Amino acid sequence: MRQLRQQRRQTASALSSPQGLLSPINRVPRSKRADELLELVHALHDIEHEEAVLNEVEKQLSEDPNYQTAGQVRAPSRLYARANAILSAFHWSPRVAPPPHESHSFTWNARTAESDWQNRFVFWVLNQHAKGNASLIRTCRNCHKWFYAITNHQLHCSDPCRQHFHSTDKKFKEKRRLYMRRFRKEQRSRNQRQSRYSRLQIAEGESRTSRVSKKGRQGK
Ligand SMILES: [Zn+2]
Repeated sequence: MRQLRQQRRQTASALSSPQGLLSPINRVPRSKRADELLELVHALHDIEHEEAVLNEVEKQLSEDPNYQTAGQVRAPSRLYARANAILSAFHWSPRVAPPPHESHSFTWNARTAESDWQNRFVFWVLNQHAKGNASLIRTCRNCHKWFYAITNHQLHCSDPCRQHFHSTDKKFKEKRRLYMRRFRKEQRSRNQRQSRYSRLQIAEGESRTSRVSKKGRQGK
């Protein structure tokens, strides 16, 4: 288990390194193609999320013996269409090669470093999706950079980012607590002022009516 974690940590740090697959999508400004590939990552996230939700519902329903299951549930086709529209720009060829190489594979001509990265990124992302792991490609809650999560609950790209987020979060919570205290205090005194004012108004109104009624009586 620890070995697996260590291995994943190495993979994640290699992916985020300047030569890594995630580096072009963290570049500022991002290329148009990198933007499209991020759109692909988002589409795959949506597919994984929707299918997880639908499968959970299906699992709940199938607890009833009368429920007729329709089999495996798929995310709406518009999500697949969105992903496939982005992928339609990629044209690779299948290749056969004699042993000891793989008997069949997909290859592309690495015309430029940029196009080579795009193809490798797509290849990697689709492999991640096949394992249901596209959601591990995510943005850091602190620095907003893209990274590859080692575990499903990892929200920050690194320990410094996690610490920084929590310390600012703590400061933010403290600031909000003080603000709310001041706000409630002001609200209380506003309410008190208001009720004092309306009490005065009622009292004044009563004395006026009594004056009016006295006048009324005098007029009679
Ligand atoms: Zn970060």
